[in-house]
Formats: sequence, structure tokens, C-alpha cells
Amino acid sequence: MIRRLATLAVALALAACGGGDTPATVTAAQTQNGFPPAPNLDASGDSRVAKFLFDDAPSGSLQQSEPLGFYSRGCQAGAVQLPETGPTWQAMRLDRNRNWGQPILVDFIQDLSRVAAAQPGWSGLYIGDMSQPRGGPMLTGHASHQTGLDADIWFRPPDRLDLGRAERENLSSISMRRDEGAFVNDAWTPAHEAIVRAAASDPRVQRIFVFPGAKVAMCDNATGDRSWLRQVRPYYGHHYHFHVRLRCPAGATNCEPQDEVPAGDGCAEARQWQQDILNPPPPDPNYVAPPPRAEITMAGLPGQCLGVLNAE
Ligand SMILES: [Zn+2]
Repeated sequence: MIRRLATLAVALALAACGGGDTPATVTAAQTQNGFPPAPNLDASGDSRVAKFLFDDAPSGSLQQSEPLGFYSRGCQAGAVQLPETGPTWQAMRLDRNRNWGQPILVDFIQDLSRVAAAQPGWSGLYIGDMSQPRGGPMLTGHASHQTGLDADIWFRPPDRLDLGRAERENLSSISMRRDEGAFVNDAWTPAHEAIVRAAASDPRVQRIFVFPGAKVAMCDNATGDRSWLRQVRPYYGHHYHFHVRLRCPAGATNCEPQDEVPAGDGCAEARQWQQDILNPPPPDPNYVAPPPRAEITMAGLPGQCLGVLNAE
């Protein structure tokens, strides 16, 4: 209980420091929150499967906030919890306990929810999975979302922002696709494009995943500056929600950055994917299925992640 209260106090202090225009840097709150950084321990002989250990952590570590490792092979120290309900957002599926992230992610979500609330017919955002309290691999669902820098944001405009716990378990988002994702359907609106555009234009954002038809729709409809389209990447799935990935915050030296997305707006690539959905190319006779992904062990994560697991 004491730990929970302490974590709450940290979360509140960090939330209070999170302004509307937070730059992509480590904030003073992160480096001066009174907690030590996660120690880099020797986990080289630790063959325990990481997802079972990280699934068990009920709250964030009392450590300096820091994303550790890569989006799909890492963990997070000093995570804060997105408040379950705010003026312009609600976290969904609370039983999963995945509404945790780095302070920069919590700030970003709150900022984007205010943009969404300004759209006609939108009162804010429903927020899907972020990360587990200490990040790391999950038992179900995602390869990434491990470092507190990824978030899934529902395409469903909020009906209400006073949903109770049970309602948040049972309500589902809405699919935006037709023809297997080659096109958007009638549920897709200019407000969806404005919200994705705002997210993609934010300097904190590294990339966004949406289904191919959504990218093509935005390529067709974008007016004026088109540079933000570069950050919007077509991908499988992602027709009930879009996935926002933030950059490593400046100064987060143990956070492994992802390659920049290729130059250009990426529209030709998205249109090719659309064509491949509509007219699938013949299967490649030389295709060899990749071997199943091995479980990530503690030895496979940065040494700081053992420090995160062991921390208060
Ligand atoms: Zn995601």
C-alpha cells in the first residue's frame, strides 16, 4: 500500500509538471524525481522467460524514469500511470493494467486527447494498450509496447467519458476498413484524419501504424503540408486503432532508437500494398517461413531490466 501511495505521488508530481507543449527531452521531473536510475545488472545467465516476470509486476518501479532497450526487446523504469479517466480521455480494458508509460507518453496522450476533443463529434480519446507497469514482454497481444513509448489509440469516437470498469471491458472499438484493408469504410471521417495528422506532426512521434487503406485515404485527402504523411506507416491489422510510437527522449541513453522511416510521403508504397490486397501477387515459390520467435529471456533484455524487476 505504501508503495502504491508513493507511486501515486510520483505520478501526480509528474502529471503536474507535464505541460501542454512538452518538448522531446527528459524533463526535470524524470531526472529529479528523487529515485536512482535502474542499475545495470549481469543477467547473462538468467534464462527465465521475461513475460511471466513482467506480467506479475503490479506497479511501476520507484526509479528514475527511463525507457530501456528497444520497443520489442526492453522494459521501462519509473513508469507513470495514465489516469484512468481525464477530461478528454479514458483508458480502456483496465483489467489488463497496461495504462503505464514513460512520462513523455502520458503527456503526449493527454495532449492528443485535447486535439481530438476539438473535433466535431469527438469528446476526446479512448486509449488502448500502452505498456505494463514495468514494461517488458507481455503474455498476450504485442511484440512491441515494451519500453513505455508505444500506445494504441482507438478509432472509435468516445460515446461517453464516464464509462465504468465493466463497460470499459465490454465496449469494443469500431473497424474502419473494407475490402480487407484496401480502403476505409463509411465510419472513417475527416476527424480521424485530423487526429492522425496531429499525432504524426508531433515531434515526439517516431512513427504511426495504420492499415493500408487509411494511409491511402490520407494520401488522397491531405492538403497543404504533406510532410507528416511520412510518419504514417501502413501495416497489418490496425483498423480498430492506430499505434503511436514515440522517439527515445533526448538524454535517454539506454533507449535504443529505431531507424528513421524512409524519406518521402510513403504514398506509393501504401498504394502498392493496396493493390496487392486487391490483386494478390502469386506466392513466392522460394518463400521460407521464418522460424517461430524464441521467447525473450531475462538474458535477452538489457541488464537494467533485471534492476527494474528487482526494484521497489
Ligand atoms: Zn500497438
